[in-house]
Amino acid sequence: MRVEQLGEGEPTLAVVGAIHGDEPCGVHAIETLLDANPSVERPVKFVIANERALDRNVRYIEADLNRVFPGDPGAEAYETRLAHELLEELRGCITLSMHSTQSYERPFALVEKTDPFTEMIGPYLSLDAVVETGAETFENALVGYVDVIEVECGLQGSPQADENAVELVYEFLAATGALSGSIDPAGALPVFQIGESIPKQEGSDYAVHAENFRQVNEGEVFTTVDEQVIIAEEPFYPVLMSEEGYSQQFGYTAEKIDLLKN
Ligand SMILES: [Zn+2]
Repeated sequence: MRVEQLGEGEPTLAVVGAIHGDEPCGVHAIETLLDANPSVERPVKFVIANERALDRNVRYIEADLNRVFPGDPGAEAYETRLAHELLEELRGCITLSMHSTQSYERPFALVEKTDPFTEMIGPYLSLDAVVETGAETFENALVGYVDVIEVECGLQGSPQADENAVELVYEFLAATGALSGSIDPAGALPVFQIGESIPKQEGSDYAVHAENFRQVNEGEVFTTVDEQVIIAEEPFYPVLMSEEGYSQQFGYTAEKIDLLKN
Protein backbone atom coordinates (compact mmCIF):
# COMPACT_ATOMS: atom_id res chain seq x y z
CA MET A 1 0.00 0.00 0.00
CA ARG A 2 1.35 3.39 -0.98
CA VAL A 3 0.28 6.40 1.10
CA GLU A 4 1.05 10.00 0.13
CA GLN A 5 -0.11 13.32 1.49
CA LEU A 6 -0.61 16.87 0.27
CA GLY A 7 -0.65 19.62 2.90
CA GLU A 8 0.42 19.70 6.53
CA GLY A 9 -1.32 18.09 9.49
CA GLU A 10 -3.56 15.11 10.12
CA PRO A 11 -5.79 14.58 7.03
CA THR A 12 -9.54 14.26 7.36
CA LEU A 13 -9.91 13.71 3.62
CA ALA A 14 -8.69 10.70 1.67
CA VAL A 15 -8.63 9.60 -1.95
CA VAL A 16 -8.20 5.89 -2.69
CA GLY A 17 -7.30 4.07 -5.89
CA ALA A 18 -6.67 0.42 -6.80
CA ILE A 19 -8.87 -1.33 -4.28
CA HIS A 20 -9.03 -3.62 -7.32
CA GLY A 21 -5.74 -4.12 -9.14
CA ASP A 22 -7.26 -4.31 -12.63
CA GLU A 23 -8.97 -0.91 -12.31
CA PRO A 24 -6.08 1.52 -12.85
CA CYS A 25 -8.08 4.75 -13.34
CA GLY A 26 -7.82 5.77 -9.68
CA VAL A 27 -4.06 5.33 -9.71
CA HIS A 28 -3.83 7.49 -12.83
CA ALA A 29 -5.90 10.19 -11.12
CA ILE A 30 -3.84 10.12 -7.91
CA GLU A 31 -0.55 10.28 -9.80
CA THR A 32 -1.84 13.12 -11.98
CA LEU A 33 -2.82 15.07 -8.89
CA LEU A 34 0.43 14.40 -7.04
CA ASP A 35 2.40 15.51 -10.14
CA ALA A 36 0.36 18.71 -10.34
CA ASN A 37 1.07 19.22 -6.63
CA PRO A 38 -1.60 21.91 -6.07
CA SER A 39 -1.55 23.89 -2.84
CA VAL A 40 -4.34 22.63 -0.60
CA GLU A 41 -6.43 24.35 2.06
CA ARG A 42 -6.81 21.09 4.01
CA PRO A 43 -4.41 18.13 4.16
CA VAL A 44 -5.40 15.18 1.95
CA LYS A 45 -4.24 11.60 2.10
CA PHE A 46 -3.82 9.58 -1.11
CA VAL A 47 -3.79 5.81 -0.94
CA ILE A 48 -2.95 3.30 -3.67
CA ALA A 49 -4.36 0.24 -1.97
CA ASN A 50 -3.60 -3.07 -3.67
CA GLU A 51 -0.19 -2.54 -5.25
CA ARG A 52 0.53 -6.26 -5.66
CA ALA A 53 -2.67 -6.84 -7.65
CA LEU A 54 -2.02 -3.64 -9.59
CA ASP A 55 1.44 -4.88 -10.62
CA ARG A 56 -0.12 -8.06 -11.99
CA ASN A 57 -3.18 -6.31 -13.45
CA VAL A 58 -5.56 -8.65 -11.59
CA ARG A 59 -8.56 -7.81 -9.41
CA TYR A 60 -6.92 -9.38 -6.36
CA ILE A 61 -4.21 -11.82 -5.30
CA GLU A 62 -5.92 -13.97 -2.64
CA ALA A 63 -9.24 -12.39 -1.76
CA ASP A 64 -11.39 -9.58 -3.17
CA LEU A 65 -10.29 -6.63 -1.01
CA ASN A 66 -13.71 -5.02 -1.25
CA ARG A 67 -15.40 -8.10 0.29
CA VAL A 68 -13.12 -8.66 3.30
CA PHE A 69 -13.53 -5.52 5.43
CA PRO A 70 -12.90 -4.91 8.30
CA GLY A 71 -9.98 -7.27 7.65
CA ASP A 72 -7.68 -8.91 10.15
CA PRO A 73 -3.98 -8.17 10.76
CA GLY A 74 -3.34 -11.86 11.56
CA ALA A 75 -5.15 -13.31 8.54
CA GLU A 76 -3.51 -15.58 6.04
CA ALA A 77 -4.90 -13.89 2.93
CA TYR A 78 -2.92 -10.83 1.83
CA GLU A 79 -6.02 -8.73 1.10
CA THR A 80 -7.60 -9.53 4.48
CA ARG A 81 -4.51 -8.08 6.20
CA LEU A 82 -4.50 -5.18 3.73
CA ALA A 83 -8.17 -4.40 4.51
CA HIS A 84 -7.24 -3.89 8.16
CA GLU A 85 -4.31 -1.60 7.25
CA LEU A 86 -6.44 0.40 4.83
CA LEU A 87 -9.16 0.97 7.43
CA GLU A 88 -6.50 2.23 9.87
CA GLU A 89 -5.40 4.75 7.22
CA LEU A 90 -8.96 5.88 6.46
CA ARG A 91 -10.23 6.20 10.02
CA GLY A 92 -11.66 9.69 10.52
CA CYS A 93 -11.36 10.57 6.81
CA ILE A 94 -14.10 11.46 4.39
CA THR A 95 -13.09 9.30 1.46
CA LEU A 96 -13.43 9.12 -2.30
CA SER A 97 -12.58 5.68 -3.67
CA MET A 98 -12.24 5.08 -7.40
CA HIS A 99 -13.24 1.98 -9.35
CA SER A 100 -14.23 1.10 -12.91
CA THR A 101 -16.68 -1.45 -14.35
CA GLN A 102 -17.65 -3.29 -17.50
CA SER A 103 -21.19 -1.99 -17.24
CA TYR A 104 -21.28 1.74 -17.92
CA GLU A 105 -19.03 4.34 -19.48
CA ARG A 106 -20.08 7.38 -17.42
CA PRO A 107 -19.30 7.86 -13.72
CA PHE A 108 -21.77 6.86 -11.02
CA ALA A 109 -21.40 6.47 -7.27
CA LEU A 110 -22.10 3.65 -4.85
CA VAL A 111 -22.96 4.42 -1.24
CA GLU A 112 -24.45 2.23 1.45
CA LYS A 113 -27.16 4.78 2.14
CA THR A 114 -27.60 8.40 1.09
CA ASP A 115 -26.48 10.44 4.08
CA PRO A 116 -25.79 14.16 4.67
CA PHE A 117 -22.24 13.63 3.41
CA THR A 118 -23.48 12.15 0.10
CA GLU A 119 -26.06 14.94 -0.18
CA MET A 120 -23.37 17.55 0.34
CA ILE A 121 -20.70 16.17 -2.03
CA GLY A 122 -22.69 14.17 -4.62
CA PRO A 123 -24.14 17.09 -6.60
CA TYR A 124 -20.65 18.55 -7.10
CA LEU A 125 -19.32 15.41 -8.77
CA SER A 126 -19.83 14.69 -12.49
CA LEU A 127 -22.02 11.65 -11.86
CA ASP A 128 -24.97 10.19 -13.73
CA ALA A 129 -26.41 8.54 -10.62
CA VAL A 130 -26.00 7.54 -7.01
CA VAL A 131 -26.69 3.89 -6.21
CA GLU A 132 -27.62 2.88 -2.68
CA THR A 133 -26.36 -0.62 -2.08
CA GLY A 134 -27.86 -1.11 1.38
CA ALA A 135 -26.00 -3.15 3.96
CA GLU A 136 -26.42 -6.60 2.39
CA THR A 137 -25.76 -6.43 -1.35
CA PHE A 138 -21.99 -6.23 -1.04
CA GLU A 139 -21.11 -7.76 2.28
CA ASN A 140 -17.88 -6.63 3.93
CA ALA A 141 -17.37 -3.86 1.38
CA LEU A 142 -15.65 -0.58 2.26
CA VAL A 143 -18.97 1.32 2.11
CA GLY A 144 -20.03 -0.34 5.35
CA TYR A 145 -16.97 0.79 7.31
CA VAL A 146 -16.01 4.39 6.50
CA ASP A 147 -17.62 7.58 5.18
CA VAL A 148 -16.89 6.80 1.57
CA ILE A 149 -18.26 7.53 -1.86
CA GLU A 150 -17.17 4.72 -4.14
CA VAL A 151 -17.14 6.03 -7.69
CA GLU A 152 -17.27 3.87 -10.79
CA CYS A 153 -15.35 6.14 -13.16
CA GLY A 154 -16.10 4.41 -16.47
CA LEU A 155 -15.20 1.32 -18.46
CA GLN A 156 -12.34 -0.69 -17.02
CA GLY A 157 -9.00 0.13 -18.64
CA SER A 158 -10.40 2.87 -20.91
CA PRO A 159 -8.70 6.26 -21.38
CA GLN A 160 -12.09 7.84 -20.69
CA ALA A 161 -12.22 6.24 -17.22
CA ASP A 162 -8.75 7.71 -16.50
CA GLU A 163 -9.90 11.14 -17.61
CA ASN A 164 -13.14 10.91 -15.60
CA ALA A 165 -11.21 9.83 -12.49
CA VAL A 166 -8.97 12.93 -12.66
CA GLU A 167 -12.01 15.18 -13.00
CA LEU A 168 -13.76 13.46 -10.07
CA VAL A 169 -10.75 13.88 -7.76
CA TYR A 170 -10.56 17.60 -8.52
CA GLU A 171 -14.31 17.98 -7.98
CA PHE A 172 -14.17 16.04 -4.70
CA LEU A 173 -11.31 18.21 -3.43
CA ALA A 174 -13.11 21.40 -4.47
CA ALA A 175 -16.43 20.25 -2.92
CA THR A 176 -14.71 19.48 0.39
CA GLY A 177 -12.80 22.78 0.47
CA ALA A 178 -9.36 21.25 -0.04
CA LEU A 179 -8.90 23.18 -3.27
CA SER A 180 -9.84 26.84 -3.30
CA GLY A 181 -12.07 28.47 -5.86
CA SER A 182 -15.76 28.08 -6.33
CA ILE A 183 -17.36 25.10 -7.96
CA ASP A 184 -20.86 24.79 -9.35
CA PRO A 185 -23.03 21.81 -8.55
CA ALA A 186 -23.55 19.58 -11.57
CA GLY A 187 -27.33 19.55 -11.17
CA ALA A 188 -29.96 17.10 -10.02
CA LEU A 189 -28.66 13.63 -9.41
CA PRO A 190 -30.95 10.58 -9.44
CA VAL A 191 -30.68 8.07 -6.60
CA PHE A 192 -31.32 4.37 -7.20
CA GLN A 193 -31.80 1.70 -4.56
CA ILE A 194 -30.46 -1.73 -5.43
CA GLY A 195 -33.00 -4.55 -5.30
CA GLU A 196 -32.40 -8.07 -6.56
CA SER A 197 -29.53 -9.71 -8.31
CA ILE A 198 -30.35 -10.54 -11.95
CA PRO A 199 -29.21 -14.15 -12.34
CA LYS A 200 -27.34 -15.29 -15.42
CA GLN A 201 -28.44 -18.66 -16.80
CA GLU A 202 -25.83 -21.06 -18.01
CA GLY A 203 -24.92 -20.40 -21.62
CA SER A 204 -22.13 -19.41 -23.93
CA ASP A 205 -23.41 -16.30 -25.62
CA TYR A 206 -24.78 -13.44 -23.54
CA ALA A 207 -26.31 -10.20 -24.76
CA VAL A 208 -27.71 -7.29 -22.77
CA HIS A 209 -30.31 -5.19 -24.57
CA ALA A 210 -31.17 -2.80 -21.76
CA GLU A 211 -29.25 0.29 -20.71
CA ASN A 212 -28.17 0.89 -17.14
CA PHE A 213 -30.22 3.53 -15.27
CA ARG A 214 -32.89 3.45 -18.00
CA GLN A 215 -36.19 1.82 -17.12
CA VAL A 216 -36.95 -1.63 -18.53
CA ASN A 217 -40.69 -2.01 -19.01
CA GLU A 218 -42.81 -5.03 -18.23
CA GLY A 219 -42.67 -7.45 -21.18
CA GLU A 220 -39.44 -5.98 -22.56
CA VAL A 221 -36.64 -8.30 -23.65
CA PHE A 222 -33.63 -7.18 -21.64
CA THR A 223 -31.11 -10.00 -22.10
CA THR A 224 -30.51 -12.97 -24.37
CA VAL A 225 -28.74 -16.15 -23.31
CA ASP A 226 -27.74 -18.07 -26.43
CA GLU A 227 -30.97 -17.96 -28.44
CA GLN A 228 -33.28 -17.58 -25.45
CA VAL A 229 -34.77 -14.16 -24.70
CA ILE A 230 -35.32 -13.06 -21.09
CA ILE A 231 -38.36 -10.87 -20.56
CA ALA A 232 -39.01 -8.46 -17.69
CA GLU A 233 -41.91 -9.57 -15.51
CA GLU A 234 -42.16 -6.14 -13.96
CA PRO A 235 -40.56 -2.78 -14.66
CA PHE A 236 -37.15 -2.04 -13.15
CA TYR A 237 -34.03 0.02 -13.59
CA PRO A 238 -30.90 -2.04 -14.34
CA VAL A 239 -27.68 -1.13 -12.52
CA LEU A 240 -24.20 -2.65 -12.87
CA MET A 241 -25.61 -4.76 -15.70
CA SER A 242 -23.20 -6.15 -18.30
CA GLU A 243 -22.60 -9.26 -20.39
CA GLU A 244 -19.37 -10.40 -18.77
CA GLY A 245 -18.89 -8.25 -15.65
CA TYR A 246 -19.96 -11.04 -13.28
CA SER A 247 -19.92 -14.79 -13.79
CA GLN A 248 -23.20 -15.68 -12.05
CA GLN A 249 -25.33 -12.61 -12.67
CA PHE A 250 -25.96 -9.88 -15.21
CA GLY A 251 -26.25 -7.16 -12.59
CA TYR A 252 -28.99 -5.82 -10.32
CA THR A 253 -32.49 -4.46 -10.48
CA ALA A 254 -33.02 -1.09 -8.86
CA GLU A 255 -35.74 1.35 -8.03
CA LYS A 256 -35.44 5.09 -8.60
CA ILE A 257 -36.09 6.66 -5.22
CA ASP A 258 -34.93 10.23 -5.10
CA LEU A 259 -33.18 13.18 -6.66
CA LEU A 260 -30.27 14.95 -5.00
CA LYS A 261 -30.14 18.65 -5.69
CA ASN A 262 -27.99 21.45 -4.50
ZN1 LIG B 1 -13.60 -2.11 -8.25
